[in-house]
Amino acid sequence: MKSVTAMTRVFETDVMIIGGGIAGVCSAYYLARRGARVSLFERGAVGAQASGVNFGGLRTNGRAEPELPLSLRARNQWQKIDALVGDSCETEITGHVEICDRPDHMAAVEQWAVMAERHGVGAQMLTSTEIARRFPWISTKVLGGCYVAGDGAANPRLVTPVFAIAARKLGADIVEYDAVRTAHHDGTCFRIETEAGTKARAPTLINAAGAWGARLAAQFSESFPLDVMAPQMVVSEPFPRLVTSTVDYPVNGRFFYARQIGRGNLLFGRGPGRADLDTGRAKYVPQNLFDASRIAVDVLPFLRGRNFIRSWAGVEGKSPDSLPFVGRSRAIDGLIHAFGFSGHGFQLGPGIGEVIAELVLDGRTSTQIEGFDPYRFDRRADGAGKSTHAQTA
Ligand SMILES: Cc1cc2nc3c(=O)[nH]c(=O)nc-3n(C[C@H](O)[C@H](O)[C@H](O)COP(=O)(O)OP(=O)(O)OC[C@H]3O[C@@H](n4cnc5c(N)ncnc54)[C@H](O)[C@@H]3O)c2cc1C
Repeated sequence: MKSVTAMTRVFETDVMIIGGGIAGVCSAYYLARRGARVSLFERGAVGAQASGVNFGGLRTNGRAEPELPLSLRARNQWQKIDALVGDSCETEITGHVEICDRPDHMAAVEQWAVMAERHGVGAQMLTSTEIARRFPWISTKVLGGCYVAGDGAANPRLVTPVFAIAARKLGADIVEYDAVRTAHHDGTCFRIETEAGTKARAPTLINAAGAWGARLAAQFSESFPLDVMAPQMVVSEPFPRLVTSTVDYPVNGRFFYARQIGRGNLLFGRGPGRADLDTGRAKYVPQNLFDASRIAVDVLPFLRGRNFIRSWAGVEGKSPDSLPFVGRSRAIDGLIHAFGFSGHGFQLGPGIGEVIAELVLDGRTSTQIEGFDPYRFDRRADGAGKSTHAQTA
């Protein structure tokens, strides 16, 4: 229920969400679909931070084991995204191949593929000959790789706004360009006040504030080890479609990843850039762009002589083990955290939305999310749940 006065807007709903990235907006969508009254508050436009500037990769390939149940749930949702929100968001199930040029990486990937098969990922190990045959555009200097046919990519510029439109049609109040300034619990319910003076209250609050999630949690005297990272991207001039799958490859502990979009441009990423939580801005680091460009030409030799036309970076929250913080607050009943996706939360977005709706409305979720326990670092120093992609998308 919403009442609008001359000076302030006041929202009273079942659930309030802070953060209009893919995690928050998908949560609003799934909650509204199940009949909950939802209000969401976003500082800028929905999907304008990490959720809108990412690589768009939808991979299960290479994910840490604790993320696989959620990632597979999300994979099913991506495969029917048109039916869910009435738009394909340029989703393409092109497959994803991780290539290896070192025996130790090949061994790690083989081990990963065995584990992934226990979860039904559909991972397929390929020899160098099979890679040359199936992906002739990849450099011949590879030992082999791991391919997952059910993975793909979507256009991140479209996804979060499209989910927001769908959530609004289901009755959710999605408030943009209105940063939440204060949030507290008054003993009965959560109350927030925004920079523009909007007020809202609800018995449940979702912290989907992305890289700013720990700052929001601090308003409830909770502390989480969230760092900030800035993955950075490059886009090439368009050329006839050649790259048939998303490809990634680790160099010096950091992944290089690339895909070609329908309009012909090649996107590739490898950071890091620099991010600033106070301004909400990220900047690319030129030297790292040049390094990534050199790797791009090395892995995809047909790029030699083509122009790279644009670059950017995005602000992202990173946890020590690169797994997100998802679950109920211990400090206060009714607060649920869902932030810190550490460079690979776009693919998880619809899955997180459905899981949050279950946590709120059913009190439990059917998806295993124990690995995301927000309090896991209270128990151990670090290190569990490492994926082959600790640093990147
Ligand atoms: C360049 C780049 C490439 C990436 N590539 C991939 C990829 O290929 N595949 C993949 O799976 N993931 C990828 N990621 C990661 C993915 O984009 C993120 O994990 C995901 O988008 C996080 O979503 P989110 O909703 O948690 O955060 P965000 O999208 O950051 O949303 C959080 C929102 O909260 C808002 N907010 C914060 N505080 C407040 C407040 N006080 N009041 C109101 N609003 C507030 C912010 O403005 C922001 O819009 C990439 C990230 C980047 C930056």
